Amino acid sequence: MLKNDLLEQWDRETFFHPSTHLAEFARGNLAQRVITGGSGCHIVDRDGNRHLDAFAGLYCVNVGYGRAEIAEAIAEQARELAYYHAYVGHGTEASITLSKMILDRAPDHMSKVYFGLSGSDANETNIKLIWYYNNILGRPDKKKIISRWRGYHGSGLMTGSLTGLELFHKKFDLPLGQVVHTEAPYYFRRADLNQSEAEFVQHCVASLEALIEEEGADTIAAFIGEPVLGTGGIVPPPAGYWPAIQAVLDKHDILLIADEVVTGFGRLGSMFGSGHYGIKPDLITIAKGLTSAYAPLSGSIVSDRMWRVLEQGTDENGPIGHGWTYSAHPIGAAAGVANLKLLDALDLISNAGAVGQYLTAQMADSLADHPHVGEVRGEGMLCAVELVREREGRVFFDASEKIGPQVAAAMAESGVIARAMPQGDIIGFAPPFCLSQKEADEIVGKTRQAIERVL
Ligand code: PLP
Repeated sequence: MLKNDLLEQWDRETFFHPSTHLAEFARGNLAQRVITGGSGCHIVDRDGNRHLDAFAGLYCVNVGYGRAEIAEAIAEQARELAYYHAYVGHGTEASITLSKMILDRAPDHMSKVYFGLSGSDANETNIKLIWYYNNILGRPDKKKIISRWRGYHGSGLMTGSLTGLELFHKKFDLPLGQVVHTEAPYYFRRADLNQSEAEFVQHCVASLEALIEEEGADTIAAFIGEPVLGTGGIVPPPAGYWPAIQAVLDKHDILLIADEVVTGFGRLGSMFGSGHYGIKPDLITIAKGLTSAYAPLSGSIVSDRMWRVLEQGTDENGPIGHGWTYSAHPIGAAAGVANLKLLDALDLISNAGAVGQYLTAQMADSLADHPHVGEVRGEGMLCAVELVREREGRVFFDASEKIGPQVAAAMAESGVIARAMPQGDIIGFAPPFCLSQKEADEIVGKTRQAIERVL
């Protein structure tokens, strides 16, 4: 094994870390953590320290670390056939089996799966398919995409534009012109102090209607949203939000993309967030939980009504001009098949629902009297603690005080990894689905201690 200091030197000298303050890293002000192993909900670093990973990597290692069943499926696929492409009708047993397994679990009106590698490229695919669809239907001007402030849909040119977080736009000349943003269903931050949840939903609907009116419904192709806002703060929608939004979209013939990169395959305690909230999407984006991140793989699940038009398009124009070398990569597909089997065999989605609910309830109970905890919220195995300067009147800290990152750092020191969400003082939790009640208790206890240490 290389000496730690040599590895740290190479890390600083050669490795461009994503989503990292580059200058602070170069100055040695950020922790360098080299992770070497993992089992269940824990990871181990090079110094042998165990950490309880309460964010499942980047909310993706849903079945937990160290699953031999998935490792073996990957190894067997690599030995048998490491790669063959999926162009012009080719496939592998793994990729065809996985598309069947996904469709068996998806809402009934969905028809096919297009495989990619990341949530970002799957959303890029979605937008291209939507533009193609409207061109085939003879509506070349119906192209704009509505996204929400605080939404996260990736880091590419188009997907970074769809993302509604300033950090991902700043100095990159995003968002691109075809993207417009609307109100986030974020009651705690966005509602007026005396507004009820129902009134706030009406406000979200009215904002969307006004935007459609201003832009013109015949210029708007689609609306994209995560069933639960994720990176924007882990915010479950207020009751009634999704049916009300869906009604507006249907009225104006606007397609709906449910970005289920985080919620797909069980994180809410249901197979999909679409079913959980009664959403009827035209496209569903899947990634992370599809393989529990054992290998990179994503997908766009396409509805019947879109599929029929795409087929017609190829009759008129020839093969669809969209493909990645690694679409439906057999190793990713083998990981996906093994992962979905494991979710069923261990009933992990039920555990995510039950222990997730326990985690949020215990967190709310433990922090109920804390003067700097504005809200504890959650859905399934997603939970967030929002910190405030004053509860009364919802007075927020200044971003420059970096309260959230300080609390997350204090938690990491005590052996629990949570995530300081990128905007606002929000501590996010998205543990693996195999979390036990005992581990949930540890997360709650250490969260309280860390908040008390910082505030
Ligand atoms: N969509 C959502 C809802 C996400 O949370 C993410 C990543 O966190 C993405 C898309 C982008 O996925 P990736 O990082 O795999 O490109």
